[in-house]
Amino acid sequence: MRIVKTIEAFNEMRKTLQGSVGFVPTMGALHEGHLSLIRRAREENDQVIVSIFVNPTQFLEGEDLDAYPRREEADIRICEFAKVDMLFMPMMGQMYVPDELRIGAPAIRGYILEGAKRPGHFDGMLQIVMKLLNLTHPHRAYFGKKDAQQLALIMQMVRDYFMSVEIVPCEIVRDGQGLALSSRNTYLSPEEKERALCLSRSLKRATEMVMAERLDAAEICLEVLGVLQEADSIEYVAIVNRAFEPLETVLLGDTIILVVAWVGKTRLIDNVWI
Ligand code: AMP
Repeated sequence: MRIVKTIEAFNEMRKTLQGSVGFVPTMGALHEGHLSLIRRAREENDQVIVSIFVNPTQFLEGEDLDAYPRREEADIRICEFAKVDMLFMPMMGQMYVPDELRIGAPAIRGYILEGAKRPGHFDGMLQIVMKLLNLTHPHRAYFGKKDAQQLALIMQMVRDYFMSVEIVPCEIVRDGQGLALSSRNTYLSPEEKERALCLSRSLKRATEMVMAERLDAAEICLEVLGVLQEADSIEYVAIVNRAFEPLETVLLGDTIILVVAWVGKTRLIDNVWI
């Protein structure tokens, strides 16, 4: 595996990669969720590039940018083990220049739900993903369904900007008890981890209702809110279609149910695709 830290070195190395390229962008502190993306990229491509960059422009004032877990050594070993070909770990100054051109999230879809709670988050996210895709120019790029709105916006960016990359959505990986894996789970105490299970439990309840043909979105939201009471506060429960338009009735094959709640000082997100 080649570890690259500068744009110049990256471009040199990229030229030497033969065949199809799969790309997995991450912010590090790698876990099984990231690994599932890397494994899939490994299966479907001749070459695999992983990036690790804690992107400051997608963190808002007062968010956990400084506290965000950084595990460079462990991440390198994990990527080696997963047979990654190139690991790109740039410093901030490599990725951004002062007063640079900005792209923005769409005015509606980029500013509802996560975008309403974290205004500007998706602008920063799209900015860095655009840069990374242009730099790596992969055939396929892999993103988790866990960040469902992020995934939808990246797919929109690729469409709207006529970018030639296939975006591959990947299933959410959970621990044995159902908690969706996240680098931020390291913030949770054992007691908080136990209570954090209410997110996946609430989505399981929603899925059971759908299976029982109880498809009314308001009714499902009420049930989900009930199960989420174990969290310290609930930010939102939403039922939308794949284009992130609100639904009054669940449409089988075109629905995402999203929950966001705080447990202790940790903001947790989860969702289920129906
Ligand atoms: P992050 O390092 O949190 O920016 O995540 C990098 C990529 O991994 C994103 O596409 C995430 O959606 C994906 N990811 C994070 N956690 C999971 C998970 N539990 N299951 C599947 N994909 C995940």
